[in-house]
Amino acid sequence: MISDNLPQMTTKILIWMVAGLVLGSVINVFASDVTFIQGYVVNGLFHVLGAIFINLLEMLVVPLVTFSLICGVCGIGDIKKLGRVGLKSFLLFLLTTASAVALAIFVATIIGSGKDFDLIKAAQTKFEAPTAPPLTQVFINLVPSNPVAAYADGNMLQIIFFTILFSICVLMIGDRARPIADGAERLNEVMMKVVTVVMSIAPYGVFALMAKTFSVQGLGLIVPMLSYFGVVILVLLLHASCTLMLLLKFWGRVSPLMFLKKMRAVQVFAFSTSSSSATIPVTLRAVEKKLGVDNSTASFVVPFGATINMDGTAIMQGVATVFIANVYGIELSLAGYMTVIGMAVLASIGTAGVPGVGLIMLAMVFNQIGLPVEGIALVMGVDRLLDMMRTAVNVTGDAVVTTIVARGEDSISMGTFNDPDAGAMEHLHLKPTKPLKGTSKNPFS
Ligand code: ASP
Repeated sequence: MISDNLPQMTTKILIWMVAGLVLGSVINVFASDVTFIQGYVVNGLFHVLGAIFINLLEMLVVPLVTFSLICGVCGIGDIKKLGRVGLKSFLLFLLTTASAVALAIFVATIIGSGKDFDLIKAAQTKFEAPTAPPLTQVFINLVPSNPVAAYADGNMLQIIFFTILFSICVLMIGDRARPIADGAERLNEVMMKVVTVVMSIAPYGVFALMAKTFSVQGLGLIVPMLSYFGVVILVLLLHASCTLMLLLKFWGRVSPLMFLKKMRAVQVFAFSTSSSSATIPVTLRAVEKKLGVDNSTASFVVPFGATINMDGTAIMQGVATVFIANVYGIELSLAGYMTVIGMAVLASIGTAGVPGVGLIMLAMVFNQIGLPVEGIALVMGVDRLLDMMRTAVNVTGDAVVTTIVARGEDSISMGTFNDPDAGAMEHLHLKPTKPLKGTSKNPFS
């Protein structure tokens, strides 16, 4: 029997994360050319463990989002409310991403990021510009021509579109479709249990991911890129601790401190996996069980946010734009900056939350405003580390918007939110089946 409770689990994950970071950095400094360590430990043990852990997380995403979303839509019961929740969360996601990139441009311009950069030295790195999808295709791609292919490819926006349409039709049919809604509720409960089981090995997965990343990257890379790296981190911190927390306090009317305490494990997951998508199961679990958001809201807003909302990524793009423009001595006009804001928002809608996608989006932004795309080579070196940090901010933004929307819809239990121990991990042994507690209001009863 594996049992644990979440506060202890979070501490355990943090300890293993730091251990991975330290061991990885030590290997990078002292054993980067020791064949045995590189072959068997870094590319063997760490790589295999880390990849298995990421696969385990990704394995959960599609079934969890599907069953949870069917429960959510059927739980909302009212198509008008669904439209309202959808519109509110969409607008809030746009607002937070746009304010993130605007803040990034503002701070980077004031600091003058990149003005003193040694272009000759840095220009030795080459960057092959990836092709970004055209904007029209982003919209066409929302609708799957084949839902089975969408499921097979894990295309989240298409899966969300199809599942919502399917669930609305379940609602429209009424009583005769009730077994489908009931079945989805049971399957959702099972998937939540699978999440809990997978989480029990999280500390070791996080350790392996951190050790592998830092033994390859090391901490030393940061030094030559300090001005860019430092400004991105500064704005990430400002956005996460000021903009988002002020929104939460004044719009959501909840305690930011309690929120942050409960989001710690989610942020660690996002940090070590660099993927908002792979973190969906953990975010969903925390938002429902620890923050007390009703499944009917969380099941929709969390996966939606993980796909379309990327505050941290937008921040990196804002700073990178100012940095590269300064390095190349290019003056950007106000219209240029406005385009950056618009493009960063649109790019985050059209791309999934997976590692490194921010760089592809950056190529899209640069193309649009006429900055040299090969300039991306200058920021590539530190992108792996920044990806980890911005992903943690991305998932924080998703949970903030989910909480605010849930507060507005009155679908959050403030008792659970304010209970510091809410969401303690259940004992992972099989209990006799008991009647399902309606995690959502059943529209059929
Ligand atoms: N890794 C980020 C995420 O999954 C996206 C990016 O910035 O590259 O949210």
